[in-house]
Amino acid sequence: MSIAIDGPSGAGKSTIAKALAAKLKIPYVDTGAMYRALAYAFIQMGNPKDHAKALKEMDLVISPEGIYYEQKSLDHELRTAEVSKRASELSKDPLIRDYLLDYQRKLAQDQDVVMEGRDIGTVVLKDAKVKFFLTASDSIRAQRRYEQNLEKNIQIPLEQVKEDLQARDYRDYHRAVAPLKQAEDAILIDNTHLNLEETVDKMAAIVEAKNGVL
Ligand code: C5P
Repeated sequence: MSIAIDGPSGAGKSTIAKALAAKLKIPYVDTGAMYRALAYAFIQMGNPKDHAKALKEMDLVISPEGIYYEQKSLDHELRTAEVSKRASELSKDPLIRDYLLDYQRKLAQDQDVVMEGRDIGTVVLKDAKVKFFLTASDSIRAQRRYEQNLEKNIQIPLEQVKEDLQARDYRDYHRAVAPLKQAEDAILIDNTHLNLEETVDKMAAIVEAKNGVL
């Protein structure tokens, strides 16, 4: 019983998807990290214009065990403002999306997963048993991202965080291929006034009602 979670940046998708996957005892798949990995590799390669050639040449491994560029494990390197911006720019390219699509579908072929991204319910796992569209107000999403940054010692002013988030959302909502969109059969969860635990509990109750487990 795979679960799709989509929504704009900073709605808490990653943390919530991770917690839900742990409750369900199934793997959690972060597709944003895959776009970020490609963005990181493109930046390292000097942002080549020929995307097809770059995809062939890059020494990047994306696997359930981790993401490696030139054999070096990537983690916090994927979370910089530069990588965020580049990922959202690159994700407009159908070539880039196709490159990741097969792999994302394969991950959910032989096992149930909680997969999180922008186009999971609409494109990647159209037949997911439960689909959520997770959102919150712009201000609260910016505030949460700002606080996450501070925890990681990243100092970006709140206004700047909000502007970056809105620019990224705009690109995600308006791109021609696989734009960020609530699937028709997705359940909208607005967690502006819910904390993490309340959000996860609410979603878990919905999954339970659909599936009869948990
Ligand atoms: O979720 P995260 O912020 O890590 O995603 C980084 C970027 O990757 C997003 O802004 C979006 O442009 C892109 N993305 C996407 N489709 C997905 C997941 C992420 O286009 N399924």
